[in-house]
Amino acid sequence: KKWVYLFSEGNADMRELLGGKGANLAEMTKIGLPVPQGFTITTEACTQYYEDGREINAEIQSQINDYIAEMEKITGKKFGDKENPLLVSVRSGARASMPGMMDTILNLGLNEDVVKVLAEKSNNPRWAWDCYRRFIQMYSDVVMEVGKKYFEELIDKMKEERGVKQDVDLTAEDLHELANQFKAEYKEKLGQDFPSDPKEQLMGAIKAVFRSWDNPRANVYRRDNDIPYSWGTAVNVQSMAFGNMGDDCGTGVAFTRDPATGEKGLFGEFLTNAQGEDVVAGVRTPMHINEMEQKFPEAFKQFVDVCKTLEEHYRDMQDMEFTVEHGKLYMLQTRNGKRTAKAALKIACDLVDEGMRSEKEAVAMIDPRNLDTLLHPQFDQKALKAATPLGKGLGASPGAACGKVVFTAEDAEAWAERGEKVVLVRLETSPEDITGMKSSQGILTVRGGMTSHAAVVARGMGKCCVSGLGDIVIDEAAKKFSLGGQTFHEGDPISIDGTTGNVYAGIIPTVDAAIVGEFGRIMAWADKYRRLKVRTNADTPTDAKKARELGAEGIGLCRTEHMFFDPERIAAFREMICSDTLEEREEALAKILPYQQKDFEALYEAMEGNPVTIRFLDPPLHEFVPTEEAEIKKLADAKHKTVQEIKDIIASLHEFNPMMGHRGCRLAVTYPEIAAMQTKAVIRAAIAVKKNHPDWKLVPEIMIPLVSEDKELKFVKKTVVETADAEIKAAGSDLKYEVGTMIEIPRACVTADAIAKDADFFCFGTNDLTQMTFGFSRDDAGKFLNAYYDTKIFENDPFAKLDQVGVGKLMKMAIELGRPANKDLHIGICGEHGGDPSSVEFCDEIGLDYVSCSPFRVPVARLAAAQAAI
Ligand code: PEP
Ligand code: MG
Repeated sequence: KKWVYLFSEGNADMRELLGGKGANLAEMTKIGLPVPQGFTITTEACTQYYEDGREINAEIQSQINDYIAEMEKITGKKFGDKENPLLVSVRSGARASMPGMMDTILNLGLNEDVVKVLAEKSNNPRWAWDCYRRFIQMYSDVVMEVGKKYFEELIDKMKEERGVKQDVDLTAEDLHELANQFKAEYKEKLGQDFPSDPKEQLMGAIKAVFRSWDNPRANVYRRDNDIPYSWGTAVNVQSMAFGNMGDDCGTGVAFTRDPATGEKGLFGEFLTNAQGEDVVAGVRTPMHINEMEQKFPEAFKQFVDVCKTLEEHYRDMQDMEFTVEHGKLYMLQTRNGKRTAKAALKIACDLVDEGMRSEKEAVAMIDPRNLDTLLHPQFDQKALKAATPLGKGLGASPGAACGKVVFTAEDAEAWAERGEKVVLVRLETSPEDITGMKSSQGILTVRGGMTSHAAVVARGMGKCCVSGLGDIVIDEAAKKFSLGGQTFHEGDPISIDGTTGNVYAGIIPTVDAAIVGEFGRIMAWADKYRRLKVRTNADTPTDAKKARELGAEGIGLCRTEHMFFDPERIAAFREMICSDTLEEREEALAKILPYQQKDFEALYEAMEGNPVTIRFLDPPLHEFVPTEEAEIKKLADAKHKTVQEIKDIIASLHEFNPMMGHRGCRLAVTYPEIAAMQTKAVIRAAIAVKKNHPDWKLVPEIMIPLVSEDKELKFVKKTVVETADAEIKAAGSDLKYEVGTMIEIPRACVTADAIAKDADFFCFGTNDLTQMTFGFSRDDAGKFLNAYYDTKIFENDPFAKLDQVGVGKLMKMAIELGRPANKDLHIGICGEHGGDPSSVEFCDEIGLDYVSCSPFRVPVARLAAAQAAI
């Protein structure tokens, strides 16, 4: 089997095998761009490494050795050579890019002999020793996991001793001495000498990259971005080009369009006399890419041409890394650039207008999960104008974030867990901070440019980020910073604007976002190409209106129990629960009826004649009973019972496993009068609204939850139909209505043919269906799912991303049994999965009529539905 490919053997279509970076390096080689040559070890070799118990087997090792020889031939350099030594970079590259999540090693191939050759040949000993000390540092950290901090301490100590501030002020002798100190540190920590054989170094580095596929931050990133563990990462071994050989050298990162706004034009950063990680890590604040023109006019001109070639070739915004070595340009990588949701929409529309992409392709380019960020509040422009910024950094990832200041990723996580909104303030972020960044409303960093780690990761997450705010004086240890004459301690509120880069004291009010401009254009195209309808889960008129604005074509689930919690109603509801006789219960229910009717009227109004599905009472009754003494007493008085009698009733309602207890249609079986009251409210509301809007096609859909047996549905339906027909007749109306059921118990799927005969529609309640199929409590699974991720039993939360294999199979069975039994049956989904893009795709595939999701996910579902259809 072929485990290794030269760059000249591959192309862009070999992404699965060569990873994104490898495939693009091959493609750039193919189209004649200046790429330092090398080879890619395939993703299959990574999978094999794990199968072989985290070892690189003999066959793969021997192929790697053969390719080193090939590479030596191509470059005319040799590993460990005293004349013309070969130095390489070793980088990860998965199929989907995972910026900063895995490991990289530069300057590999250096040892005591080689560094002397380089120092002499280049006439630049400072550069040579700088490379060597960087290599020892990276290798120790990444391959041997010694930990960066020991080396950073040594650097700091050296700088202090020499009385200098910046790394670049250290001399060749200083760096030589540092390299010796680093090696001594290595030996002390590991009890062995730092390896001097380049081949041994290379195998170690390749192994480390494979191993980094399984590091915790990569695992979190994959779960968030739906990247399967089974894909593995490729490893790219590339001949080094040096950006740190002097002032006629440099390195940079650039985008062909602005990744924050989508504006067309070269956008990026550049550092002279530096290596790649200096730009990305935000250690020095770099200069704007345009300044490169003055420093390196030739290379800049060539780079501008390369950008144009690459963008036209890939027909998408490119994110490139490059190095200039003695004035000569080398391309180190290109990929479709990560971008904010706002930029993604603009770029997609512009590419259509520029004739580079079709409408369908534009729709397919947008990641639906990112839309979320555009739907969340933005700063109120008036309040923003009135506020004075304390300082201005780079608007690295747009959005509005307000919250309490925290200084560590751990604090961000802990505070967020207890419900606090936080803004994470750091000197700079590193990949270990990813979970803390996720927990924050926004991120503010002192160092770093637009392509720093914080900026790239925040944009990927759709998190607001301001970076490079150099005016801040921060004391991370003491958890405080000062800016614009004010001092902020942990817990103080601030607001940051990821669009302008402005930072404000206190909380600035925010307003809701709207679907306009490019967002509107893309959504209109999505609507044109999708088959699935998109409804919303909404229980209040406010939610329903919001969802309608966001494009909902009806309500797929109204959870009526949420309407009982209002203080006025809960009293009547409790009276109903604690009734001894039917009459007593009916009397209490009669008090609730007018409220419910008003609720439903408002929902019908908000939906403007589009379908509205009302789900009858679902949770067990004990969820409604009072727990506080005063409330119990109040209830006792209202019912003319003693406190003890009420307490006895409450105790009798206790269940050991309420999720599988007296809930759903089982309530309507024991208390048909509840279903009768809800039916009256649904029908009366519809008749009332129809009077005002005779042109609306208003057909209320009554949905019975938790059915597992068709006789259950028949029984409840009888009450519903008798009540509804009587209401309609009494009002002299011609109202039509439907009665359907949720499919959320495995037995309902298996017996769907019988159930379909009595149902006008099915709606998959995949929250319960997942719970009952796995036998995992939806309320408790969070406690043990982490162990399932760690052990790779699960890659995703089945409550968030539909389990297509098991739960999906049951759904298919229900559809295949249900449709032939009732040709008019319409089928939807209203579990949480209805707003998850990959689940929406599955729903399209199995032929559902609609998905229903929470209001803010409606645009996500519309786009995902279009992508499924395209
Ligand atoms: C479901 O079970 O998927 C559902 C939508 O109902 P609920 O979440 O209210 O149980
Ligand atoms: Mg349910």
